[in-house]
Amino acid sequence: MEAVNQILVQMDQTISTPTLDLVCNICPKCGTPTEHIVKLFGKKKKVGVNCRCKALELQEKEELERYQEQMRKLERLRACSLMDESFKNSKFENWEHTALNQKMFELGKEYCDNWEKMKAENIGMTIWGDTGIGKTYLSFCIANELLSKGVSVIATSSINLINQIYESYGRVGALGEVEIIRQFEHASLVIIDDLGAEHNGKSGKEKQIIYSVIDARVRAKKPLIITTNLSTEQLRNKMVGVDGVERTYDRMMEICPPVKVKAEPRRQAIGVKKTAILGSLLN
Ligand SMILES: [Zn+2]
Repeated sequence: MEAVNQILVQMDQTISTPTLDLVCNICPKCGTPTEHIVKLFGKKKKVGVNCRCKALELQEKEELERYQEQMRKLERLRACSLMDESFKNSKFENWEHTALNQKMFELGKEYCDNWEKMKAENIGMTIWGDTGIGKTYLSFCIANELLSKGVSVIATSSINLINQIYESYGRVGALGEVEIIRQFEHASLVIIDDLGAEHNGKSGKEKQIIYSVIDARVRAKKPLIITTNLSTEQLRNKMVGVDGVERTYDRMMEICPPVKVKAEPRRQAIGVKKTAILGSLLN
């Protein structure tokens, strides 16, 4: 009896020793510790930590939140875009190749394949050429290709852009003009199709809207792609403001060097360096 009591006392002492108190809990689900031991002011202390399944759960939650934020961002950009049926079907894999449009296909494809460089060097372009050769299709193919890679793109026509801003006036719940312009500033790439097709009212408001967007892109140092049926000369005349100043055209040429499609890309005095880079993509 004496001996048994002795053992019980010893066991009691063992159990109450500080080292055994510091045995860390294990998660019954994943079998990894939910606690760690740290030394604080010379004393050992237990602190809670995430076991493997908890850490995974948190990581998944973070990824979901990031994804949802990305989706919300894309949704805002989509609200500024012209996302109709023709847009959805404009994809490089649906391209109908002809001898004439092969250079256009290569231009678009190379632009997308070199997107990181285009973005870093702020290279856009003014794609100009005759009506009906597929400039809209080309620009929307670029938009879809980059959207599918998670790049934020706004693709719209100049008419749609102006209408959108007019519609925003005094409409509750709609994006206001400032917010619309801000979206055009935030997107990684903006595509304005058929610039010059818009009607210019006497107020000059349409020119002002186009200028605001182009200026926002120049200031944000982000690329802009424009398509137009007008020659650079005609476009310049169209862009001249009510004050007779060619500022919109000049700003545009800073970031969108002209590329004539259907023929070899044409070198222009303005934006020669950027044109050269675009040209080298085609060789
Ligand atoms: Zn666990």
